[in-house]
Amino acid sequence: MATSPARLHLILGTDPRLLLEHAAAEFLTPQHATPENPFPSPPVVLALRQGGLRDDLLALAHERGVGGWYDPPLLTFQELPKWMGATARRPLGDLERRTLLERLVREQRGILGGLRHPDRFVHALDRLVGELVREEVSPDAFGGGLAARADRDDFEQRRDDELAAVYRAYDQALESTGRRDGRDTWADCARALAESPEAFTKRLAGRRELRLFGLQDLSGGWRPLLRALRACPALDRITIYSAERLPLDPDLEATVTRLEEHATVATRLFTGEPGPPDASVDLIAAPDVEREVEEVARRVRALADAGVPFHRMAVVTRQARPHADLAAESLARFGVPVTQRRRHTLREIPVVRALAALLAAAAEGWTRHGLAELADQPYFANELDAGAINAIGYERRVTGLDAWVAAFLASGSDVRAAAFTRFAERASELDRPRPLAAWIAWLGRFLVEDPWGLRSRIEAMPGTRVDVVRLDLQGWKGLTKLAGQWGDALAAWGDSDTAMDASAFHAQLDDLLEMEVALWTPNRRGVPVLEGLAAAYRSFDHLFVVGLEGGRFPLRAPGSPLLDDAERRALVETGVPLELTAEWDRRERELFRILAAGARERLTVSNARLDPAGREVVRSPFIEAMADVASLVLEEIPPSRVLTPGIRITAGEEAAAHAAHAARVELDRGTGRLSPWNGQVERPALLERLAQRYGDDYLWSPTQLESYAKCPWAYFSSRLLGIETREDPDDEMDAATVGTVYHKALQRFYDAEVTRLGGPVLLLADDLQGATERLLVSLDAVLAEMDDTTWLGNPVMAGAKRMELRRTLTRYLAFEADTNRKLLGTHHTNVRIVRTAVARHELDIREAVLERHGVRIRYRGSVDRVEIGIDDRVTTGPYVAAVDYKTSKYGAPGGGKKQAWEEGVVLQAPLYAHALASIHPDATVSRLEYRAIRQREIVQRLQLREYDKQTKEVVDADEGMARMEAALDAAARHVRRVRAGEFPADPPESCGCPSFCHARDICRVAGGPRDAWHR
Ligand code: SF4
Repeated sequence: MATSPARLHLILGTDPRLLLEHAAAEFLTPQHATPENPFPSPPVVLALRQGGLRDDLLALAHERGVGGWYDPPLLTFQELPKWMGATARRPLGDLERRTLLERLVREQRGILGGLRHPDRFVHALDRLVGELVREEVSPDAFGGGLAARADRDDFEQRRDDELAAVYRAYDQALESTGRRDGRDTWADCARALAESPEAFTKRLAGRRELRLFGLQDLSGGWRPLLRALRACPALDRITIYSAERLPLDPDLEATVTRLEEHATVATRLFTGEPGPPDASVDLIAAPDVEREVEEVARRVRALADAGVPFHRMAVVTRQARPHADLAAESLARFGVPVTQRRRHTLREIPVVRALAALLAAAAEGWTRHGLAELADQPYFANELDAGAINAIGYERRVTGLDAWVAAFLASGSDVRAAAFTRFAERASELDRPRPLAAWIAWLGRFLVEDPWGLRSRIEAMPGTRVDVVRLDLQGWKGLTKLAGQWGDALAAWGDSDTAMDASAFHAQLDDLLEMEVALWTPNRRGVPVLEGLAAAYRSFDHLFVVGLEGGRFPLRAPGSPLLDDAERRALVETGVPLELTAEWDRRERELFRILAAGARERLTVSNARLDPAGREVVRSPFIEAMADVASLVLEEIPPSRVLTPGIRITAGEEAAAHAAHAARVELDRGTGRLSPWNGQVERPALLERLAQRYGDDYLWSPTQLESYAKCPWAYFSSRLLGIETREDPDDEMDAATVGTVYHKALQRFYDAEVTRLGGPVLLLADDLQGATERLLVSLDAVLAEMDDTTWLGNPVMAGAKRMELRRTLTRYLAFEADTNRKLLGTHHTNVRIVRTAVARHELDIREAVLERHGVRIRYRGSVDRVEIGIDDRVTTGPYVAAVDYKTSKYGAPGGGKKQAWEEGVVLQAPLYAHALASIHPDATVSRLEYRAIRQREIVQRLQLREYDKQTKEVVDADEGMARMEAALDAAARHVRRVRAGEFPADPPESCGCPSFCHARDICRVAGGPRDAWHR
């Protein structure tokens, strides 16, 4: 006899507690054992949308004096297949689906399959296929839907045909192997139930009503499941408890009952109706996410202090990242225990990161960078020494394991060489290309055999960081599972034996490391920090919904590179049930409503004005919707509130005292004064050492003194601490080499000109053509000479670089000729300059001594170019001038700014003038200057003597002489300060902090490095 279908009821209510009490009424009433019924149990089966609700129900039952049940008819939606059964078709795992789809796309050899990286579309394709199989869309229906569209051009049609063909082939592959997609669970349950309802009937144990609590959305296969449940002879009644009226198909007609509820903020949200009188909601507007969650944590702590149990409050965020972990950390800093299921991608787990770094190093071809990154992983520290790797790799470019072994052997350290050789022996197996299956097998073996002993290092983590050990172990387990599933997937569905290198395998593995593992916090009775979907239909006395920014909640519908919303709409019109953005948005609204409804006493919502990356974000439209139905009690946290009141910033008295001391130091440092925390050396032994080292016998160079003047702390960290910026050898010729090439070429050229002309050279426009040719010959000779000893950049680029050098020198020589033309002219700015011509280059100053204000400075140096007087306007002399070449004017002290004189930074020219005077006591130094080759400019000219038109004599130039005196005073002052151990971080304004300062990362100059160098 045919049984009539079970009756379907829909019970609606917005208040989740009321709804739960209704759905679980039989669970909340104490039942008493009788001889006939010694183990009383509720007469209905209750399926809850998630595990958290089961906890809530058990807590509620406990409060009502219910002792418990024997074999309670209570389950979650996820457990439905266990009750209803499943067909014999085994579900595919994520990796199996991915492998199969990738293969099918390639086999199509169409537009997607013909792409260089078809795998990049597989993720989107997988999502689309998931939507189709959940709704049991047949390949014919999908193909028909695509074909029915008339508005497609040729390319689009071919692409549509390809999508339909892949979906058909996918369906056939599953059919022929007796497998199913895995995301079609409800449809499969429905089929199993229709085929054989006995197991379910037995599990019901005579109960004839099934209640589904918290069903919010019928998509994903609920419709066929409800049909199968209705047809199941073991059931009389199916009751759905939901916050919204579900769009049931006509054949699933249900009686609808709405629970009696008062109007609340949640019932009025998004309805256009006014909210209940006196309804109010707290709103926190914070400058950034950190302060947003800190304020929330502060309030939670205050409530806890007032007696609210931790588990009666919750912090909810639409998605885990970034708010959940930040909220949990803030709560911990307020001393509030947290209950959270923390999700971690495999990639962020330390031990997995170490393994990925090994593969990345192999993928890069064992460069310095890759090996140094690997050496930084504590798991490989025994064999790799980052310092030694950097020392070798910064000297010259080394790649490949063999070359590194040779470099280590040549380095002179047997211990290090032996350790690296051991590493290289094991690592060399990564250099061999192999098919993907063999790479996965290597990964599997690595995890089982653990050749580097990573597992023992996981367990040997120092201190009390059990959390790190737990996470690492979970990561190891996750990776082992991934390798196993990946290997199985490839064996079942893969088809390619093409060998790939470590780089290709690393790219594929890296993609999969997005997979997540989850760990529960040890405390299960703390304040829950939940994602939105896990909090839906739950209720708490105080609920904090954080992260209400546009794009974050409501979350944007995921886009797809395969079908945009217009294309999806067109398919929906042909009967293919795809979800549209409007439906997604509706679901987001309903989620917000049911979350808001879960606040029994007080709801607080919050938003930040900046996202974690520091970008401005607008607040969520849900806040505006909330303002329509409730008054918002706003607390706007000003950006100036750096510390949230009450937050724990130190752990213990010792740390607090240390923090106070650090604060005092920082305040002192902020003044910029010399102090033990700003460059003052205090220890007598060190001071004595400094005094000895930099005593009267020390041989200074003007460059060294200028470098102290530019920033004493930079000088200290470089010259005394030995800190330097090291960079990988570049493909380009480095800046210092370019400077040397210019110097040498000009020197070679002028020396030859002096010989050719038999005297000083004053280059003029008429000479320029021949002179330029000769200069370029000199340049080529210099390049050829240096080629054997110096890295002149990648040979591929040599031609282009030579052209650039030629261009710069040609223009510079033209500038010199023009400068000389002006020198001979009568313009008032030039007429005073004593005329000189190039006599020689590289004048070596072996030693000069400057005695000044009781300070004796020995110094040495080399003048790039010396000129001698050729001025026929005067009979006195001889006069000399000195020129120092700079590749760029920014290499001159203070970037060539005049202010640098007042700040005591320009020292080289005055010291050379002083030295020249002692080297050539018979000559008079008339001027010194820097010439910037690239900008073709004269900078920081020091004019000591000038031609006086009136008297027709050379006289002292007062301004220049005064400058010179001041500069020599400054030199003495700097030396005295070095000897006294004074090295403050204090760059003069003209210099600022150059972007290439080696000390930037360790410098604590007040206010941070001063980027005052406006070029
Ligand atoms: S960053 Fe600036 S203040 Fe710091 S050491 Fe470098 S130049 Fe000096």
